[in-house]
Amino acid sequence: MNIEEFRKNAHETIDWMADYFKNIEDYPVRSKSSPGETYDQIPSSPPEKGELFKDLIGDLDKIIMPGITHWQSPSFFAYFNANNSFPSILAEMITATLGAQCMSWQTSPAATELEEMVMKWLAEMLNLPGDFHGVIQDTASTATLCSILTAREKLSGFKVNSKGFSGNRKFTAYCSSEAHSSIDKAIRIAGIGSDNLRKIDVDENYAMDPEKLEKTIKNDINKGFTPLIVIAAFGTTGSTAVDPVKNIGEISEKYNLWFHIDAAYAGTALILPENRWMIAGIESADTFVFNPHKWMFTNFDCSAYFVKDKDALLRTFSILPEYLKTKEGDRVNNYRDWGIALGRRFRALKLWFVIRSFGVKGLQQKIREHIRWADNLKEKIENSDDFEIMAPVLFATVCFRYKPSEKNDTDELNKLNEQLLEKLNSSGKLYLTHTKLNNIYTIRFVVGQTYQEEHHILNAWDLIKKTAKEI
Ligand code: PLP
Repeated sequence: MNIEEFRKNAHETIDWMADYFKNIEDYPVRSKSSPGETYDQIPSSPPEKGELFKDLIGDLDKIIMPGITHWQSPSFFAYFNANNSFPSILAEMITATLGAQCMSWQTSPAATELEEMVMKWLAEMLNLPGDFHGVIQDTASTATLCSILTAREKLSGFKVNSKGFSGNRKFTAYCSSEAHSSIDKAIRIAGIGSDNLRKIDVDENYAMDPEKLEKTIKNDINKGFTPLIVIAAFGTTGSTAVDPVKNIGEISEKYNLWFHIDAAYAGTALILPENRWMIAGIESADTFVFNPHKWMFTNFDCSAYFVKDKDALLRTFSILPEYLKTKEGDRVNNYRDWGIALGRRFRALKLWFVIRSFGVKGLQQKIREHIRWADNLKEKIENSDDFEIMAPVLFATVCFRYKPSEKNDTDELNKLNEQLLEKLNSSGKLYLTHTKLNNIYTIRFVVGQTYQEEHHILNAWDLIKKTAKEI
């Protein structure tokens, strides 16, 4: 492909992309592909000779598209959204074009300095404490791992990095029983050991019980453990519960624990001034993460990680072999030292495009709308005889189940709801996923796709009611 062919193919690709969005509602939201179906259509060896671009696009339509689940469909209500938006996509195209590997300031000064500034913008938009330093990570999982590793180093006097765990105190970590599995994974990777991760019970709203947290910490100290870190959720994955940040912060200060807040999904809601009370006490957090790649219309991957003690972070991750030395030294930020990977994509560009394109007011308006639509749906469910709400609706996620009045057996209801969910998703008209809350099968309805309108939610609700009658 030469440059003129690239230009022509790129124009055609843009047309393909615009048509995709125009027709996105014609695709089944959850792919109808069965295991092996895509694999079996791909030649088992690579082609000897180069192929024409039109053949690649032809096979994209024929082989790949049937195996795609349409995360950008306005009837995608599953998991949490991984939203993109038109400005974000355009920025990703430019990022791909520049192909810059932004590990050091010198390897693209503008990428580093734009990242510094958009992270400041985000901190201001969310009203985060002024002493937080921001860096973009690929995912919240990585950010949480970075937080645990920095805590481990700071509390071990930076000894585990050099000496390994031998001779070190036995660390314990704390999160609620509703916390995300990325914490379990990070605890394993960081060498803390999953047996030393305490899952604290939750209250009736699925938020961590701070009294139980303190009791568990005291018990561990008495047994000779060293409590290392507590991780609070601002929006759990199952039901979007908010752990009591203020109480947890006080406990972490009292017992000298590192305090991380996982706000992967719900952090975006903090751009609304009316929600800021929900995170009172955030000043005592050491680190905070939220994902613009979930609810802030920015392509995956883009996770905003904030840390108070920048020196501890740098002491944990900096490594400077001869081939990475640059003349600017530590007069500049070299973001390779702010996390795990050396190589880094130019991710700040898409955030810059999104924030400038929507404007803070535009973003606020969208988030407010999503919350309002979720609230309206909650009311409809509450007013329905055959459905019930399973958890408080704090943001734009509605947890509910089908519960015809004559049925009371939990197992029977669990099966019924599983059946309902599968029938809905098989229709291709929407996509919802589930969780279990107190062992009760619960359907999660996540409002908030970028180009969704309220009629998509109302249509989905009608379909849910109709399908429930059919099972
Ligand atoms: N934390 C919470 C509360 C989540 O809901 C999720 C994913 O949904 C994660 C962490 C992991 O996010 P990521 O895919 O960015 O690692």
